Amino acid sequence: MSGAKPSSAGVLRVAVDCPLRTLLDYLPPPGQRAQDLPAGARVRVPFGARSAVGVIVAHAPGSLLAGNRLRAIAALLDPEPLLDAALLELLQWTASYYHHPPGEVIAAALPVALRDGHSALAQEEWLEITAAGVTASQDGEPRRAPRQRELLLLLAGLPTGISAAQLELQAPLWRPAARALAKRGWSALTVRAAGESAQLAPLATPAASPRRTALAAAPDLSAAQLQALEAIDAAAGRYGAFLLQGATGSGKTEVYLRAVARCLERGANALVLVPEIGLTPQLLERFRARLPVRMAVLHSALSDGERLSAWRDARAGRARVVIGTRSAVFAPIPQLGLITVDEEHDSSYKQQEGGCRYSARDLAVRRAQQAAVPVVLGSATPALESLQNVQLGRYHQLPLPRRADQALAPRLALIDLRAHAVHQGLAGPVTQAIARHLAADGQVLVYLNRRGYAPTLLCTSCGWIAPCSACDARLTVHREAAQLRCHWCGATAPLPTRCGRCGFTVKPVGQGTERIAETLAAMFPDAPLLRLDRDTARGAADIEAVMNALLDGSARILVGTQMVTKGHHFPGVSLVAVINADQGLFSTDFRAAERLAQTIVQVAGRAGRGARAGEVLIQTEYPEHPLLQSLISGGYEAFAAGALTERAAARWPPFSRLALLRASARTAAEAMSFLRAARECAGDRPPVRLLGPVSAAMARRAGRHHAQLLVEHAGRGELQRFLDAWLELVERLPEARRVRWAIDVDPLDIQ
Ligand code: ADP
Ligand code: ZN
Ligand code: ZN
Repeated sequence: MSGAKPSSAGVLRVAVDCPLRTLLDYLPPPGQRAQDLPAGARVRVPFGARSAVGVIVAHAPGSLLAGNRLRAIAALLDPEPLLDAALLELLQWTASYYHHPPGEVIAAALPVALRDGHSALAQEEWLEITAAGVTASQDGEPRRAPRQRELLLLLAGLPTGISAAQLELQAPLWRPAARALAKRGWSALTVRAAGESAQLAPLATPAASPRRTALAAAPDLSAAQLQALEAIDAAAGRYGAFLLQGATGSGKTEVYLRAVARCLERGANALVLVPEIGLTPQLLERFRARLPVRMAVLHSALSDGERLSAWRDARAGRARVVIGTRSAVFAPIPQLGLITVDEEHDSSYKQQEGGCRYSARDLAVRRAQQAAVPVVLGSATPALESLQNVQLGRYHQLPLPRRADQALAPRLALIDLRAHAVHQGLAGPVTQAIARHLAADGQVLVYLNRRGYAPTLLCTSCGWIAPCSACDARLTVHREAAQLRCHWCGATAPLPTRCGRCGFTVKPVGQGTERIAETLAAMFPDAPLLRLDRDTARGAADIEAVMNALLDGSARILVGTQMVTKGHHFPGVSLVAVINADQGLFSTDFRAAERLAQTIVQVAGRAGRGARAGEVLIQTEYPEHPLLQSLISGGYEAFAAGALTERAAARWPPFSRLALLRASARTAAEAMSFLRAARECAGDRPPVRLLGPVSAAMARRAGRHHAQLLVEHAGRGELQRFLDAWLELVERLPEARRVRWAIDVDPLDIQ
């Protein structure tokens, strides 16, 4: 009954998936008491003219809303809390720190099916591989039954199993094959109540197959690894933040594995965060081979069904290790004992577009604090923020020097583009080095952060440049696809042969990965070459195939974008060429230099084996630039020290805190007038520094004008207090309804 008076039983504060920045008050369902409805449970509530699913966040004695305006909850959907108190607190903290509507933050943390109000306890048929099945699949069994073989391989890739409903979609005729596999003891079909909290027996370590045995073997830890492990282990049961710093291959993952193993031995569960591109089959296989427990894998490419079952496994404690990308930081994990964040500097940890713009790295630290558990941040190139936290004594640094059996540090050298003949973007010394390394049986990695054939299509007669009609951007030439493409809005057009203005011939100017690959293929016709960028690789499987070709030697040259700088170590690669370092040197974004240094060090770190150090050549027109100089002579540490000094002088983070109010509208005038009004809301003497509004570096994108207002203060608390009060005013501006706007706290990209 809506319209009832608030009873002494009190009201429930509910987060509903909507853009409101507040929780909503509801009465308990008729005949029930508020205190009998647990926080963290979902409820169905009347919301305007419709009904919605929400999550009870808190109980309150009464409401500010007049009693007769309060409505009652229609139904309780979970008899037990779906989200435990700790996770609920983390989600609320996230909503408040990033100034995002709490209902949206909580909804985004739930699998889609649960957002819709489906039962969290539904029964389902579940098919999974057995330990014997894993061994059989690795031995190529069953040889004469292709249907069964196919299903076994599918299951081998899904060690936590798959629901019958999901299988129905992927392999409609799976049942007979599953029955046959079950007879051989290779798969098991069960009915399970998802959400049950009983611990299942851990998966037994599968019987030996040579590959598995190699993976399962734990190496003796180096002294530095042991020291790191002991430090992390000594913090068990309380909060401690550690920065595990070591080059690629120095053994960071080995330390995570051991720390997770110890956490499991104590009966606690672990959360392992990896960057978007770091979640490779190899990494999963390594974790599976070494940790004989159930794991839940969470990443953005899961289907709704897969995500739901992984989420339920995590929540029930059936999965003892949750391993995932950004949003896995919100995974429900009972008895959390440890969090690790690999490649903590990676920008994929920050949600950059749409929704709540949180940093999973920072939230991992927050979650560890709340749960009183250790958190390990690992990187070869830590974010300057993290290094400063070490200096301030907030993080404990655990350095991992190169191991004795590891490749020597690569030799970095700058190639002055002004001092050498340059053919199609490649300086003479670089081409010669490639020839030399190929002749010596080495492999070559060529990095260029620009996909496509050429960034510009130019008329050689009138100077016309092919523009995007919806953006302030030039169209990129994609020769293989015979298209012009806008890398900002995705617009495409057929590749013209004549100028759009005067009809003269046009030519592509500048280099993209496609063109560099073409040039190198012509120069070195005998060396098998592969390209890796978003045009050649659609998904994880494509990336994997390219990486494997480099690892097994069937490719000798790899040309690629950012994608080649992450993930794998390539022992056979002896030369790395960075085609253009200059994009990062003169950007208006204060983080551009840090990103460039990280990229160079990361890509350099992929190369080399044993005593053979990798050689790294960096093409630049500014070899005297202090950033490049410090990087060459003193490595990432020297660069970071210099960069931190510069940040301090300029009052950039981590020496100040930023928030960016972004707006976009059909016209520049609308976007700007909203931001100006927002600035006025702050009063004549705001307690923070306001910079702008200004148009974004790429102002017009997909037909909309983008602009921004930067908010800065030395202190986090002061900035937060200002945002609290200010955004309430901004939200009510009439101009706010004519634009799309969002607040980005701790923005990564401020161009
Ligand atoms: P990172 O995560 O820093 O890149 P990994 O932990 O992946 O480093 O180690 C790189 C390689 O070296 C792996 O094949 C790993 O098994 C091996 N390795 C790590 N630590 C040791 C050690 N102490 N002794 C021998 N090999 C090791
Ligand atoms: Zn022309
Ligand atoms: Zn465009």
